[in-house]
Amino acid sequence: MTECLFCKMVSGDIVPDVVFENEKVLAFRDINPQAPVHVLVIPRQHVETIDELDDSKLAGELLLGACSVARELGLSKGYRVAINCKAEGGQEVYHVHLHVLGGRQMTWPPG
Ligand code: AMP
Ligand code: ZN
Repeated sequence: MTECLFCKMVSGDIVPDVVFENEKVLAFRDINPQAPVHVLVIPRQHVETIDELDDSKLAGELLLGACSVARELGLSKGYRVAINCKAEGGQEVYHVHLHVLGGRQMTWPPG
């Protein structure tokens, strides 16, 4: 049995607030949103960090999934896609995910 939080969402053991899905990826609302829209896009397959993501097709599916989320949620004025990698990148959940943030003006640099 997996201990991975996001794998449990893929399997349905935990039911996330899904906004987009296809054969390869699942996108759901972040439980602690940092913007009016804050969605996580994950691969259905368990991959710990982007350092271990060696499947370019899957990487593309994740990015296109993020764009689909933005389109479906009406982020026509713009949005941010972020990936945190390992400790110094601020990664807390070790199952690759893209953050899609929108609905307010983003600032740069991120903290
Ligand atoms: P990161 O710091 O990049 O690993 O981001 C992990 C994200 O997962 C954070 O933004 C958390 O708020 C989010 N998160 C943690 N637990 C859950 C959950 N049960 N449902 C949805 N999002 C979650
Ligand atoms: Zn996982």
